[in-house]
Amino acid sequence: MSVSSVNTSATTLVAAQMTNITSEEKRNLLFDVNCSLEVQMEDFDENWWPLVSNIWTQWTSYKQVNGNFWKIFTCRFTKHRDSSTRQKENISNEKRRITKTRPSGLCHAKIKVEWLVLLKIVKVGRYKDSSNHTHSLLDVDRLKRPQVIRTLVEKEAVKNYLPLAITAAVKEYATIELGLGASAQELKRKEVTNIKYKVRGPMEVHLVGNSDLKLDISQSVSYLKEQEYQVEIYRVHQRSTKGIVFAHPEQLEKLENHGWLTLIDSTHKTNRYDWRLFTLMFQKIFEESGFEVYEHRELVIEFVQTEQQKKAKSWKLTVFELTERVRDRYWSVEEGGNAERTEAFISTLEASLNPIIIQFK
Ligand SMILES: [Zn+2]
Repeated sequence: MSVSSVNTSATTLVAAQMTNITSEEKRNLLFDVNCSLEVQMEDFDENWWPLVSNIWTQWTSYKQVNGNFWKIFTCRFTKHRDSSTRQKENISNEKRRITKTRPSGLCHAKIKVEWLVLLKIVKVGRYKDSSNHTHSLLDVDRLKRPQVIRTLVEKEAVKNYLPLAITAAVKEYATIELGLGASAQELKRKEVTNIKYKVRGPMEVHLVGNSDLKLDISQSVSYLKEQEYQVEIYRVHQRSTKGIVFAHPEQLEKLENHGWLTLIDSTHKTNRYDWRLFTLMFQKIFEESGFEVYEHRELVIEFVQTEQQKKAKSWKLTVFELTERVRDRYWSVEEGGNAERTEAFISTLEASLNPIIIQFK
């Protein structure tokens, strides 16, 4: 970073006068606030604050009649009250999960951020005689990721990649493109899974069919018939196998006239019952002016499931739904913003799960 002009007498750093400032340098400026800093409002909201949203939590705010407002932020490691519903439990220290609970009042660093609306400037400064941080920036990054990293995860999650792949992609991008390697390295797959669930959950609601299997099938069949598909439900009694075959008349006509079967493929995990999806491909050849054109069409799709598979899937489904219910409830409790209630939720959950985990070791 080179600072072309700094008003040293008032020790004010002006962001607009800094060239080639990296994200890591911005983070350091907003972590160890040693002097006053001025940033264009839009730049601050979009490119500065998302880098440090994990460090600072809002303490108070004040809005002036002229529209300007300021907020006092306190370090994440400042705790206003002792957080331990856990101490009431009869769980020994060794058995307790390694938690992110920290001693109260570990760090008292505070900053004041002023949004000067008419000037379109944001001023950041140390709040009164606030102390220095008692820890490193990396300590905060270990606890929580800044918004900029969470936004990257959300963008990748929309594409529905596996959490492991999202984690790797975000780490790579944040390190190479944003120079945020240190904070991105702390990103955990579990966290990505949770963010993905939050982002994807609502998107997939319309794909979830009726919870009653028979109704689910009959509704699917009606839907396919409305779309002019020919549908057959069949059953193979000796093998407890049943399924649905459907094909569009157009596809059948092409098969009869031109095609021969070239490929049968089966895919798992296509629906919540884990029925297999078979795709039959056929190939048709036109001979035109001496060259051949190959065309592939998906033709028939069929579901097959044995009784034994059904039972196993129903167990998995039960576990999946229980997990989902717990996770849903957790999000709604956490979003309620009451730290005591959230911690009570987690400790109750732990206390309820521990006996199960111990019994089935
Ligand atoms: Zn601190």
